[in-house]
Amino acid sequence: MRTQVAIIGAGPAGLMLAHLLQRAGVESVVLEIRSRAYVESRVRAGVLEQGTVDLLNDTGLGDRMRREGLVHEGIELGFEGKRHRIDLKALTGHAVTVYAQHELLKDLIEARLRVGGEIIFEATDVSIHGIDGNSPSVTFSKNGVAQELHCDYIAGCDGFHGICRTSIPDGALTAFERVYPFAWLGILADAAPSQGELVYMNHDRGFALFSMRSPTVTRLYLQCDPADDITNWTDERIWDELLLRFRCDNGWKPNMGPITQKSITPMRSLVTEPMQYGKLFLAGDAVHIVPPTGAKGMNLAIADARVLAQGLVDKFQTGSTGLLDRYSEICLRRIWRVQRFSWWMTSMLHRFPDASPFDRRRQMAELEYLAGSEAAARSLAENYVGLPLELL
Ligand SMILES: Cc1cc2nc3c(=O)[nH]c(=O)nc-3n(C[C@H](O)[C@H](O)[C@H](O)COP(=O)(O)OP(=O)(O)OC[C@H]3O[C@@H](n4cnc5c(N)ncnc54)[C@H](O)[C@@H]3O)c2cc1C
Repeated sequence: MRTQVAIIGAGPAGLMLAHLLQRAGVESVVLEIRSRAYVESRVRAGVLEQGTVDLLNDTGLGDRMRREGLVHEGIELGFEGKRHRIDLKALTGHAVTVYAQHELLKDLIEARLRVGGEIIFEATDVSIHGIDGNSPSVTFSKNGVAQELHCDYIAGCDGFHGICRTSIPDGALTAFERVYPFAWLGILADAAPSQGELVYMNHDRGFALFSMRSPTVTRLYLQCDPADDITNWTDERIWDELLLRFRCDNGWKPNMGPITQKSITPMRSLVTEPMQYGKLFLAGDAVHIVPPTGAKGMNLAIADARVLAQGLVDKFQTGSTGLLDRYSEICLRRIWRVQRFSWWMTSMLHRFPDASPFDRRRQMAELEYLAGSEAAARSLAENYVGLPLELL
């Protein structure tokens, strides 16, 4: 088997890369370890930046998102029992769209299969070879049969636990990492969202986030210990804690309903540099992780895919490797700005176990500054709706 680009992983990075390459006439094969049903139902991110929305619309993927996505022109910050709205639209001219990651993946998979593009689901024992030479290849098994895929380039879009980053020789990459002393317990509840915009709440007992996935599904998170086990959290305990942290002077609270999914996700910031080694290019969570407080993980993965697609298209259409050679440099500028924003939101909104009374008062002063200063609010809004997607 032969293709131009072998893409490992059918997440937002891999499928968007395949989509953009296909539109430009560059062949690719996507290899995914999981089944299609699993990929299409895995609940993860849900906030699309304006630039991501524009990219989906410009490349023919926006129909269902425009119908079913929820456009949000603001977010709210809550502290000391009060909520303060940050008007994203008034401050930046832009908005964000709430559209679940797995819904976007369904659209990407459908679009790819419709044009005859290949996605090999349930590919096991995936292994990459020859990345520092001129004939890279990927070996894998499908239905117990060993296969080999020859290619010109390999795109490692296989997430944090994938095999691509760890296939690069020791010493070639440098990792910059911060692990936070807390995690997010996230639930999906069959309950209509009790208001139209996200609420980020800083409470003495820890952070909580009110969000939604559709007009009938509420998504809620609360800060917990990273060593905690989800079995310690009965539905009743989760609701008690959420209602306590969201308590507001005006009586607002999330609607309750049956919890259909719950999990605990650790929080870390990680960047691995560079993002390329020989014929292997890494994109998305395979090479960087942001804490979810800034709602950036999926958007960053898609931004990487856009730069990588353009670099590969340039190479196949003109022979120029100018953009490909600068892939890491271009992506890392954006990644570090997004890392800064995600770290800042995380630091401002969570309760750190070792926080002193000074730290706590400083957090409150920062939130009051945001609530009262247009300049401060604009800085948050500009980052939240997303920095421009630049290729230079
Ligand atoms: C539990 C969880 C909750 C999250 N919640 C949020 C949130 O609320 N907000 C937010 O902004 N972000 C959130 N994120 C982050 C966001 O979902 C990711 O940043 C995004 O999925 C990154 O896309 P990706 O394509 O780089 O990687 P992924 O989506 O991880 O896709 C990688 C793909 O590669 C496949 N794969 C892995 N190993 C192999 C292999 N060896 N061979 C073949 N295929 C392989 C995987 O099955 C997967 O389909 C969350 C992440 C997790 C893990």
